[in-house]
Amino acid sequence: MPGSFFVPPLTHHLRIIFPLTPYFYGMDNYAISDNFSLLSKLMDIHGENSFKAKSFASAAFTIEKLPTPLKDTPREEIFRIKGIGESTGKSILEMLDTQQFPLLNHYLEITPAGILEIMKIKGLGPKKIATIWKELEIESMGELLYACNENRLMLLKGFGAKTQESVRQNIEFYLSNRHRFLFAEVAATGQQLEKQLQQLLAPIPVSLTGAFRRHSIIIDEIELLIAAPVAIVQQQLATLPGFSLTTTNDTNLVWQLEEKLKIITHSCEPAQFHATLFNTTGSTAFIDQFHAAGGAAFISGATSEEAIFTAAGMDFIPPFLREGANEISLARQHQLPEVIVSSDIKGIIHSHSNWSDGESSLEEMATAAKAQGFEYLVISDHSRSAFYANGLHIERILAQHAEIDALNIKLAPFRIFKSIESDILNDGALDYPDEILAKFDLVIASVHSNLKMTEEKAMARLIKAIENPYTTILGHMTGRLLLSRNGYPVDHKAIIDACAANNVVIELNAHPRRLDIDWTWLHYALEKNVLISIDPDAHSIHGFQDIQYGTLAAQKGGITKANNLSSYTVDMLNNYLLQRKQQKNIPS
Ligand SMILES: [Zn+2]
Ligand SMILES: [Zn+2]
Repeated sequence: MPGSFFVPPLTHHLRIIFPLTPYFYGMDNYAISDNFSLLSKLMDIHGENSFKAKSFASAAFTIEKLPTPLKDTPREEIFRIKGIGESTGKSILEMLDTQQFPLLNHYLEITPAGILEIMKIKGLGPKKIATIWKELEIESMGELLYACNENRLMLLKGFGAKTQESVRQNIEFYLSNRHRFLFAEVAATGQQLEKQLQQLLAPIPVSLTGAFRRHSIIIDEIELLIAAPVAIVQQQLATLPGFSLTTTNDTNLVWQLEEKLKIITHSCEPAQFHATLFNTTGSTAFIDQFHAAGGAAFISGATSEEAIFTAAGMDFIPPFLREGANEISLARQHQLPEVIVSSDIKGIIHSHSNWSDGESSLEEMATAAKAQGFEYLVISDHSRSAFYANGLHIERILAQHAEIDALNIKLAPFRIFKSIESDILNDGALDYPDEILAKFDLVIASVHSNLKMTEEKAMARLIKAIENPYTTILGHMTGRLLLSRNGYPVDHKAIIDACAANNVVIELNAHPRRLDIDWTWLHYALEKNVLISIDPDAHSIHGFQDIQYGTLAAQKGGITKANNLSSYTVDMLNNYLLQRKQQKNIPS
């Protein structure tokens, strides 16, 4: 259908952002897979033997899905893995032994830096990039944007006005986001940096600060506070691999790490460490409010952050809440929420198995969840309209339910709940007739197609789905992919109000690229007594761990375990679902 496109479900793990930096990371399967995938694309761009390029692409695909790290796999077995041939096997050993891949390095050397950057633009595969490069002689992002604006792309073979326009939009999106990262992409880097600098500079105090310390979901730079003069910090950090200095002033140094990530080091006197930590951690709005509340006098020379809050007559506000919402007045009234922590999550809600587009079998998913101490798994494969994700037709739903019944006997008291991630169709309807919807314990309703809607259309579609008595949870509310795609336009208040009126739970999708609903709307959802559900949307057993990122976002919104459906025990969830069905006159 014209004007529509399908969004591939997010099965992809997050990439390590500094490849080939053994100082920070070992060579894991993902890094090896990335290297093969990059090599295959570069070979295509250079018009090399496409059979060879394909074999590297298929090795990348195979390796990404391997259950065991290649570094822990006996060498002779590596060559027996299906999809890995003689030459790819040798390259793997080379990468494991030397952390290098000379063939890839060769192609990186003969490719202009601008072409490597252009490879990051969505909608441009290797063949199209080769055409742009060879026929228009474009070698940089700026030239490509210019060519789009001059309508030069649409004249090329395989392109058209529509492709050109979408390339143009994708370049603009990329340019506005290129030095920004998801928290999850830089979380390990930030924590390791803090540790590394503490060791390097001991006994000088060092702490993470700024947006990273507040667990912001998007990170523009990692900030660290160091109780030493700028000159000393400059001298010491210059010795670290990957660090290059870009700007200096009396109190700050700005660095680039691996030419990608901005690092800011703040310097202060040892006696001002806690005061400066306080001042550099809170958002501007928080600091302004703290001053307005009469707290300014207690900052300078403080012996700890706790002392600052105590002197100001407030409870301690943890860094992640210092955003300038209502936390200061709550802290004064001793009413800060006791926010949820990862161990409060009792079950996996929203997961996919290999019945649709997941990587693991139903039994593997359930067994892994049980082994990790969870009490239940809500399996919610894709519905039939999601044909690109192998969505389930009615006969397959019945077959899956039989498998779930058998597994529930085998794994008791662990329980698998029967669910479906039902596409919300264009007109707001769910994807099956009522008698099939009634067979699920719960239904997660999500939009996956035709995302380019006006707000009016998006709202009508969502509200109709929320009003459907079978909808238990509204999945990833705006469809946004952080730093990749804006969500469809929605009126958050109206959706939250509709969920409150219809007793529908709002998902906080925990995938670090979604974190959708945005945490800034959680206060309003709480005010309206809407339940939130921190859901990993796991497409493999590895996906469970995304719960940590959902929990961090929930903490920023002040969610407690009582406000979160996935904190319910198995019995609580079962009762909740039965009562809800009764309320909605659904036979159970
Ligand atoms: Zn989905
Ligand atoms: Zn899903």
